[in-house]
Amino acid sequence: MRVFSIPMRTRFRGVTRREGVLLRGPAGWGEFSPFAEYGPEEAARWLAAAREAAFEGWPAPVRDRVPVNVTVPAVGPERAFEMVRASGCRTAKVKVAERGQGDADDMARVEAVRDALGPEGRVRVDVNGGWDVEHAVRMVRALDRFDLEYVEQPCVSLEELAAVRLRVDVPVAADESIRRAEDPLRVRAAGAADVAVLKVQPLGGVRAALRVAEATGLPVVVSSAVETSVGLAAGVALAAALPELPFACGLGTLSLLTGDVVDDPLAPVGGEIAVRRPDVDPLALAAVEAGADVSAAWRERLGDAEKVLVAAGDGASGYLSSLPAPGGDRGDAAREGNVR
Ligand SMILES: [Mg+2]
Repeated sequence: MRVFSIPMRTRFRGVTRREGVLLRGPAGWGEFSPFAEYGPEEAARWLAAAREAAFEGWPAPVRDRVPVNVTVPAVGPERAFEMVRASGCRTAKVKVAERGQGDADDMARVEAVRDALGPEGRVRVDVNGGWDVEHAVRMVRALDRFDLEYVEQPCVSLEELAAVRLRVDVPVAADESIRRAEDPLRVRAAGAADVAVLKVQPLGGVRAALRVAEATGLPVVVSSAVETSVGLAAGVALAAALPELPFACGLGTLSLLTGDVVDDPLAPVGGEIAVRRPDVDPLALAAVEAGADVSAAWRERLGDAEKVLVAAGDGASGYLSSLPAPGGDRGDAAREGNVR
């Protein structure tokens, strides 16, 4: 195992460096990079994902390219326009409801993004739970004059999402509401979303995420956890294996990092990422390898997560055994067909 520590271009989730472990197995490299706030129970799922990558590999792809969105942070309209134009993407995710800004800032940013994409492009907004129900209903209706593809996590709770969903025509996507395998089922039961944003590592691997997607019965947008190309390859594998992929994915995140561990990074070209699995480059890895203290801390985290997996018995997918079949009887057959 090797430990990396890569500076981020801008602060993200309160951190300035992205760190994690790379594991090597017969199937290739896997990434274990749970965020710092996750304890061993959560981290065990991230480890299951890394192990799947290293020891099993992934289900066969059904497509060879994955469209991705450009993410537009809470910048001014001119900068937003430039970012979208420079990206080559046909879909943009616009961050709104930034603290210290007002509704007029959001309107101006989304308008600029629509101008940059033209009428054929797709514009989604990500609220990160920043609005209450009334604010969300008002703003979604107002922003929809720029024709929104969907609104991501307009409010915090499932009840609020469900309330917004009943009152607006724009589809609602759940992101923060889905952090573990059982969450999508709660989202579905609450009638809280039309779209599920899924990430491979927190769900415990590509196969686990495919089962979650099937059980949820919602269209899926695959997003990254801001990983190196090793971790991103698992997200790309999930997006490539889903039977349907109606939306661009949030996998174009490599530009948030100042380095990588491969010499042919999984970066989008013309708004798409080619479905492939780049190999770790020894020189690239050496350039971002963590020092002794950081490495020791990660070895300990890995060991703690391993204990949880061992205690769970069947590791990668054991915690998923409680998932109900998606449509009653068709469950197992449909799922197996999916996972291949
Ligand atoms: Mg989001």
